[in-house]
Amino acid sequence: MGIVNAGQLIVYEEIDPDLKKLVEDVILNRSPNATELLVEKASNYLSNETSTAKNDEEWRKGSVNERISHSLINGINKFIINDAEEARLNLPSPVSVIEGPLMDGMNVVGDLFGEGKMFLPQVVKSARVMKEAVAYLVPYIEESKDEQSSSNGKVVMATVKGDVHDIGKNIVGVIMQCNNFEVIDLGVMVPAETIIQTAIDEKADFIGLSGLITPSLDEMINIAEEMTRKGLDIPILVGGATTSKAHTALKIEPAYTSGQVIHVNDASRSVGVLQSLVTENEKDEFIKDIQEDYKKTRERLADKDSKPLLTLQEANDNKYIFDWSNYTPPKPNFTGVKKVEGIKITDIRDYIDWTIFFRSWDLAGQFPKILEDEVVGEAATNLYEDAILMLDELEKTDTILLEAVIGFWPAHQENENEVSVFDENRENEIIRLNFLRQQKPQGIRPNFCLADFIKPASDFVEDYIGAFAVSAGSGIEEKCLVYERNNDDYSSIMLKAIADRLAEALAEYMHERVRKDFWGYAKDENFTNEDLIKEKYTGIRPAPGYPACPDHSEKVKLFELLNSDDIVNIKLTENFAMYPAASVSGWYFSHPESKYFGVGKIGNDQVKNVSKSRKETLEQTKKYLRPNLD
Ligand code: SAH
Repeated sequence: MGIVNAGQLIVYEEIDPDLKKLVEDVILNRSPNATELLVEKASNYLSNETSTAKNDEEWRKGSVNERISHSLINGINKFIINDAEEARLNLPSPVSVIEGPLMDGMNVVGDLFGEGKMFLPQVVKSARVMKEAVAYLVPYIEESKDEQSSSNGKVVMATVKGDVHDIGKNIVGVIMQCNNFEVIDLGVMVPAETIIQTAIDEKADFIGLSGLITPSLDEMINIAEEMTRKGLDIPILVGGATTSKAHTALKIEPAYTSGQVIHVNDASRSVGVLQSLVTENEKDEFIKDIQEDYKKTRERLADKDSKPLLTLQEANDNKYIFDWSNYTPPKPNFTGVKKVEGIKITDIRDYIDWTIFFRSWDLAGQFPKILEDEVVGEAATNLYEDAILMLDELEKTDTILLEAVIGFWPAHQENENEVSVFDENRENEIIRLNFLRQQKPQGIRPNFCLADFIKPASDFVEDYIGAFAVSAGSGIEEKCLVYERNNDDYSSIMLKAIADRLAEALAEYMHERVRKDFWGYAKDENFTNEDLIKEKYTGIRPAPGYPACPDHSEKVKLFELLNSDDIVNIKLTENFAMYPAASVSGWYFSHPESKYFGVGKIGNDQVKNVSKSRKETLEQTKKYLRPNLD
């Protein structure tokens, strides 16, 4: 049996071919004396320091092109400036260093990535080496008035208006640059006009749009309509957590009649798409295939014979029933708002859900098993080590400000689907929350609505609702900019991904304190982090914009209740994304049977009901509830 040290893996292609053959001979039992030969070879790999060091530096003896290639493939930036300088002196012009050895190396990286032999974090590290080398060469190129090296094409990228998330966009940008596409990144919260005007001014070949929250879907349709109105035909690539092939086919493509929109599922697909679009004899066929595919998707979705929805009345009649007469809702140990101060990274580190961290880098698998995964183990282990290093550093330096505010209020269920929130004396209603009820027929199960988990008004004993908002994003922006200015996208993306994890960890940590102390209904709870991630505890913290309460606009009430403007540095954008991005907010429900569910599609009767209750125009309500409209 082979034993793999996941901490010491190298790219498979990079293993000394002789050694690889000897090892394979043993493992695959290919020759009778395989063991002896391997043992003999092993003496060359004595594990004392000098020989390891010598071995590690062995690649430095290769030609300058080989060294550059090695640095790029392994993401080593220690020698790249020296090597780039050496290549510059050897070659006729500084541009030819880029077009020669650097591009050659990046092509190998691109191929390995395409073949699934390298992974996103490694490629982003390779890109860092490339960028440093290019940054070093640029002054020479300018000096020599040399022709700029020509790119494969120009992409204008942005996270759309009202949305602030950019980890995915940044990763895609790096991958595109690695493949010699010029990327103009307009950042986050970018209005349609800016994106379109920049694409026109820069003569862009493509537009890339990113979004994480559901209102961004509408914004993408809006951009497509604008492009059509202007008669533009620049291909649009859309991506991000909220996007899908179905939405692209159903909503965006029909809005973009003058050009083509393409949904790109993950970063590794983006370059293939661009390449097909710039290759003259592939382009038409490629677009035709996509149109065909989207047409089929539309037909398939139209055909889906979904059962008709219940009326809101019918759904209400089938609500979740609970015997309130035998139940005393727990009382929080304060009402109103409290800022919880003095939380440090040390306190919340153990609450991090690492599985999601790896997913943000396109590495699939459960933590910690992923570290030993046959395919992505090496990439995951190296990424994890880098993350821990950064986390240690953050812990020492207080770069990130952890902020948390929570609140509890007397509350009761009202009109089936609403929750009345009262002031501390339960005298005046201060806000009315609107929750949505499932209207799809649920068989023997109830048609759920979160409001069912709060005690109805008519009963005597009091119930409560809680809310929270936490953030770990304050302070990282500047640091990310510094990284980016130093061509270090890897560290910038890493810092954002870690800040996201810390915000979620902080939410988990606060929820535990709420259950054990502030609300105190589970004082003796004792769960591991794994249990917490599996939500084994009593009570929930549903987040507006998620399936049980999909309306993002209700976040306005949440933030109003928490009086968050004065208390923490979290703002809502016009489409209710939280800024900084590394923020989490939600409601607290203590009910022992409260659980998450998906509201799914709702009928017009419920939309009207919400609209009336909130005193909004029907159009406004429809806009907010669009993703759930039947
Ligand atoms: N461990 C994860 C965070 C938890 S995700 C991480 O580190 O990223 C689960 C959270 O998402 C829940 O606590 C809740 O706030 C929200 N959530 C999940 N499903 C939901 C649903 N159906 N409705 C509302 N909120 C939901």
